[in-house]
Amino acid sequence: MKRERPNFIIVGSGISGPSLALFLKRAGYGVRLMESYSRPAEDIGGALQIAPNGMKVIRELGLTSEVSKIGTFSDEMIFRNHTGRVLAMIPNGSVSQFGESAIVVSRARFHLLLLEAAEKEGIPTEYGKKFSHAEFPLDGGVIAKFEDGSFVEGDFLIGADGNHSKVRSFLFPNFPKPEYTGILNAGGFVPAEVIPEKYSKRGPIHFTFGPEGFFGFAACGNTEDTSWMWWSNIPRDKEYTREEMNSLDDGAWKDKILEIHKGWHDPIEKIIRASSTILKGSVHDLRSLPEWGNDKVLLVGDAAHVMSPHTGQGASMALEDSHTLFSLLERSDSVQEAFRNFETIRRPRVERIIEESRRNGNRKKKLGPIACWIRDRILTLALPSFAKKGQDWMYNYEGIK
Ligand SMILES: Cc1cc2nc3c(=O)[nH]c(=O)nc-3n(C[C@H](O)[C@H](O)[C@H](O)COP(=O)(O)OP(=O)(O)OC[C@H]3O[C@@H](n4cnc5c(N)ncnc54)[C@H](O)[C@@H]3O)c2cc1C
Repeated sequence: MKRERPNFIIVGSGISGPSLALFLKRAGYGVRLMESYSRPAEDIGGALQIAPNGMKVIRELGLTSEVSKIGTFSDEMIFRNHTGRVLAMIPNGSVSQFGESAIVVSRARFHLLLLEAAEKEGIPTEYGKKFSHAEFPLDGGVIAKFEDGSFVEGDFLIGADGNHSKVRSFLFPNFPKPEYTGILNAGGFVPAEVIPEKYSKRGPIHFTFGPEGFFGFAACGNTEDTSWMWWSNIPRDKEYTREEMNSLDDGAWKDKILEIHKGWHDPIEKIIRASSTILKGSVHDLRSLPEWGNDKVLLVGDAAHVMSPHTGQGASMALEDSHTLFSLLERSDSVQEAFRNFETIRRPRVERIIEESRRNGNRKKKLGPIACWIRDRILTLALPSFAKKGQDWMYNYEGIK
């Protein structure tokens, strides 16, 4: 689309929003970001892995050096059972095969990095703008309306507003909603001093399966920033209501996590005890949204495809979405054609990952001693080849040729 460069309103300034805005702005499209947070969020909590496929997009954005300053390159995954017995040690991708390393970063720092990059490029970003609905004037374009009564006009609207997307529920009120997967998520950060010498090598991500639940930890941050991230998955059949979740105070939540991981190998209990703030949440996914948009509106990132975090691919998929959509816009005769092709190209890949993540999550549910023994045997024997096969297709992102 070389001649006219339309204007895009992007609702949501998480990962897909600013990354798409950067691609579009640099290519001369009109773009503005509308975010519901009242300011750039420094407290969005937790950490995430950006996999080699996501890092490929980071390179396309010219941000590899900035991201490497805030993250720890991850070269290995070490799987244990709760007694500390190593079940498998697997390379976390390889630069020679995938062109990039995986990196572990704090979500908040990564998010701020993208926002700063958008600001440097002069991309208008408005905070405190909670999308409520859109109108489509007969003479063309789209008007996005916000809960504070304000509105903005553009040619097209992108819903990049995450797993509980309001753009999605406005556009498709009767479509399926994200579904609780039977797992609660907790997480936080601790200083490096908490991590014993035996585990202190930066690079591996440590994964531990127990009879009930799962624990992971890894170095996060560059060499001067010594924090370590951790997360815990706790099976629970029934989802907590918002009220129940809010009524769980920090102490009660920490006790619950300690109870699940009681007696697990060092330094798991130590890490939990040393954490001052512990995040809490429920894990959802949305296996298949029947449509991702129409001629005027397109959903990207978690708004289009919510995946549980058990493959560590949500952020990388959001980045891939931005890059793919931008590439399609550059190659298509119309925005509508690019929107349609986007869904056709992206859907099989993301839905495969959603299923893979579900399967991985189900391995974290409660098991009896015999089932644990069987799981450990299977993981020891099969994980190396499973993980390699998984990485072969997941970590490989070539973009649009
Ligand atoms: C516990 C947990 C662990 C995870 N771990 C990993 C991992 O290791 N690796 C990985 O790749 N992914 C991980 N993910 C997933 C990853 O964080 C998401 O997939 C990714 O952030 C999706 O990016 P996005 O831009 O689509 O949405 P988001 O990053 O969620 O951004 C959406 C933005 O939209 C804004 N918004 C929401 N509603 C509105 C509205 N009505 N109006 C305006 N703005 C709005 C939000 O405030 C937010 O800023 C994890 C997720 C969770 C929950």
